[in-house]
Amino acid sequence: MGSCSRFLLAAVLIASVTLLFPLAHGQKTREPLTEGDVMQLLQGGVATQRVGKLAQEFGIAFEVSRAAERNLRSAGADDQLLQILRELGPGKGPANPKNETPKTGAPAATGILLITTDAACKLAVDGEDAGELAAGASKRLTLPFGEHLVRAVSNDEPTASVEWAGKVEKPEQALVRLVLAEKVAAIKSKPLPASATPTQAEVVIWKSIENSTRVEDFRAYIQKYPDGAFSTLALARVEKLEADAMAKETEDKNKREEEERQAEIRKYTFPVVHHHRSVLTRCWGHLQLTADGAIYRGSEHNVTFSKTNVVYIDERSGAACLRFHLMDGTNWCFLLVDEEDVRDQKLRTFYGPSSLGNRVVEKWGFISADNGKRLLPPNQGGTGQPPRSLRR
Ligand SMILES: [Zn+2]
Repeated sequence: MGSCSRFLLAAVLIASVTLLFPLAHGQKTREPLTEGDVMQLLQGGVATQRVGKLAQEFGIAFEVSRAAERNLRSAGADDQLLQILRELGPGKGPANPKNETPKTGAPAATGILLITTDAACKLAVDGEDAGELAAGASKRLTLPFGEHLVRAVSNDEPTASVEWAGKVEKPEQALVRLVLAEKVAAIKSKPLPASATPTQAEVVIWKSIENSTRVEDFRAYIQKYPDGAFSTLALARVEKLEADAMAKETEDKNKREEEERQAEIRKYTFPVVHHHRSVLTRCWGHLQLTADGAIYRGSEHNVTFSKTNVVYIDERSGAACLRFHLMDGTNWCFLLVDEEDVRDQKLRTFYGPSSLGNRVVEKWGFISADNGKRLLPPNQGGTGQPPRSLRR
């Protein structure tokens, strides 16, 4: 093979090696040179300095073993190239990742970082995957001089990570201790944030109580899922149900009080008849006794009496008479009768002295018409007999 054709072959080989890595320039992904690649370059007559540069640029994928050294030497490798190749080694990456071609043929300056961590993690160097590291283990990284960023992400807790950023400027090994376990523990001990997506169980529970009117159902839900997807809704339901319950309670209380009032009124309301002597007519109605006096409600008129009432036996009719006299001098005498009498407006029965058992009215007060079974409220008036003026 003449020198001319050798040169041509070398040019073709360089081109083909370059074509093997068409993305090499400015790209992070590149294939390191195999032993075969280097052999081809050397056998193709590429200068050892140039081969060294290519190796530094792309990295190498083989170990410079004794056998490899023999092969490379036989292909034309010199000491300087072998030294470069030994330093690169497999997995050590290109010595010059920034693709800056050193001005001289001298190997790029590198330093070694000995990375240790206290938690199993994935390592990334300058954003590139650098493998995994077990807790307590260490890893040796050969990096070119310059700024680097080492990042460890916990295998156990992907949100826990720790970074080392620093400058490699000496060839001596530097220890980088990545403290990660503490971060992992801190993240793991944090309570889970409120989940926007409820669990199936939570949805089932919510669906089962959604239309409930029992405040306890929603309280139980809130207790079980204080930060649940429906907790705001559940709180609103609790508030509404409580407000409703309170309103109902007030309504019930008012109703109960009104019923009691009406019962009280009924208890002290008596069917009565009274005479209008002047026109010889009778009026039918009800007399309600109150602590303040009495209220008469009849078909013809309503009259309110003050405390000037008195009970006595109407001597003329012989019936128990509730007599009232008003400040204007009018006197009203009500006889206690039966409800049916009022309804039919017929005086069939009235309660006379015998019904009252001829009891002496010792106090100004009311005696019930039905043989004393109904106890009338005490009159606030004086004692003794009705005023002499009211007697006949
Ligand atoms: Zn009347």
